[in-house]
Formats: sequence, C-alpha cells, structure tokens
Amino acid sequence: MSARVVHGVAELREAVAVARGRGATIGLVPTMGALHAGHGSLIDAARGGTDFVVVSVFVNPIQFDRKDDYERYPQDVATDAGFCSARGADLVFHPAVTDMYPHAQRAYVEVEGLTEHLCGAFRPGHFRGVATVVLKLFNIVEPDRAYFGEKDAQQLAVIERMVRDLNLRVEIVPVATVREPDGLALSSRNRRLSAEERRAALAISRVLFAVKERVAAGAVDTAEMKSEALKAFAREPVLRVEYFEFVDPAEMQPVERVTAPVRVAAAVWAGSTRLIDNVLCVPPG
Ligand code: AMP
Repeated sequence: MSARVVHGVAELREAVAVARGRGATIGLVPTMGALHAGHGSLIDAARGGTDFVVVSVFVNPIQFDRKDDYERYPQDVATDAGFCSARGADLVFHPAVTDMYPHAQRAYVEVEGLTEHLCGAFRPGHFRGVATVVLKLFNIVEPDRAYFGEKDAQQLAVIERMVRDLNLRVEIVPVATVREPDGLALSSRNRRLSAEERRAALAISRVLFAVKERVAAGAVDTAEMKSEALKAFAREPVLRVEYFEFVDPAEMQPVERVTAPVRVAAAVWAGSTRLIDNVLCVPPG
C-alpha cells in the first residue's frame, strides 16, 4: 500500500486523529529526506513498535549554520514517498517551510551543556534549530514513540534530554547506525562524495573501530588515542578533521581517561562534504 503524503499541519493532525481513534499507537520518524537504508531501519523499528507510522520529511532551515549546505541539501519527495511506501510507513508528512514557520519564529528550545562540544561547538544554533523543530513535530503529530539514529549521537542525547527536562509524553527509541558493507555510515551526504573522497572517507569508521578495539583491550588515555587517530587521518590528504573527541554518553562532556563507556565521535570533511560518525567504546570488566 502506498503511504499518503500530506503537507499541511491541520491535514496531518486530522489523519493522525483518525488512526488514533481506531486505537492505533503512533510512531514518528523525523527525517530531512534523501532517504536511505539508515532511515529505513528507523521506519522498520517504528513499524515494530507502533501501529501507525508517520515519517516526516522536512529540510529544516533553522538548523543549518551554512546557507550553501541548506541549499545543496538533496530534495526529492516523490522518491522519498516511494521509499516510505515500500518500507510500510502509513503517512509522509512533507510540510513547506511556510507550513512549519508561517510567521517569524520567536520561541526556541535550548538544551544547555550537552550542546557545548562536538557538533555544537562548530555549528552555532544547530541544536537549537533541531530541538525546536523536533518539539514542533512532537506537538503536531503527538506520537507515542519517536525514532532517532545513533549515527547522530549528540542529537539523540539532546532530544532525550529535552523530553526528560520538559516532561514530554513521548518515548524516544534509539536505533543502531546502519553502515555500508565496508563500514562507512550511511548518510544523505554520501551521494556528494567523489570516488576518491568516498574511498578516503572509509578512514572515519576504520579509525573509530580501531579505537573501540583499543578501549576494549584496556587503553584509557584518550589524548594518546586521539593523537594516533589524527595521524591516521593525516595520511588521507582529501580529509580534514573538524573534531575527534571522547565524551561521556549522557552529558556529552570531554573524558580524559576511559573508566566507563565513552562515545567517540568524529566530524571529518571529505572535500566540501562534512561527514559525522561515532561509536560507543566500552572498557573491559
Ligand atoms: P537525517 O535525515 O539525516 O536528518 O536523519 C534522520 C534520522 O535518521 C536521524 O534520527 C538520524 O540519526 C537517522 N539516521 C541517519 N543516518 C543513519 C544511519 N546510517 N543509521 C541509522 N540512522 C540514521
């Protein structure tokens, strides 16, 4: 069956109300489109956990810190709607910017602390834009559960914290990162990579998984592991590391010695494309 595509907020609310009236639980998968198997895995999880699955496809202007990135973001809603149908979603919510922001936006959600490091340090206003649009989507769809990828670990932590601190009635379900067979994390931005950048980008997951193994084998000194990692990236001239950090998984604060599970997260530019990835590293014992 093909998923219905709706654009307006009122229309979306009506369609969800009909499903809820039948007693269905509602799952929400927020995306920016250009859907791939990573998003597919979120849709699968939502189908497994709820009765009526809404996929939102919205390239949210207020979370972009660079105009060119926003303008270059791939958009093809017909293909995305086909993907959602094939994957068994019930509804695709594809609002226009004017549906989501009909007048000047004056209210925003700020999640403090967790947004200081990693992407938060390099993309001013990004998480404010993410938290704000996700809260709007929660208020529009009123889902029982919402599904987010661990690929964007800081985003997931920020959303979990917003839900907890603001007493939102939605359960956040994390979904494991889907990777290419060679290890590269799937991303809508991968399609911008040249063949050479695609080859070099493999270093990101390779380095992250090497660190994961070292931590599992008892390595604790994050400065030393970071310096090793940076040396490996330096062997790939088309890559430029924006950050490579060890943080605690809840507060996203830097960790010097690994005595508990840590999130190791990287942002790396391959030419003019910014890629992010992370792994959870667990010390022995
Ligand atoms: P995006 O469309 O990039 O904003 O991503 C929408 C959702 O899909 C977010 O919750 C992402 O974390 C998730 N996602 C993106 N890529 C992947 C992936 N490779 N594996 C799992 N989830 C992903």
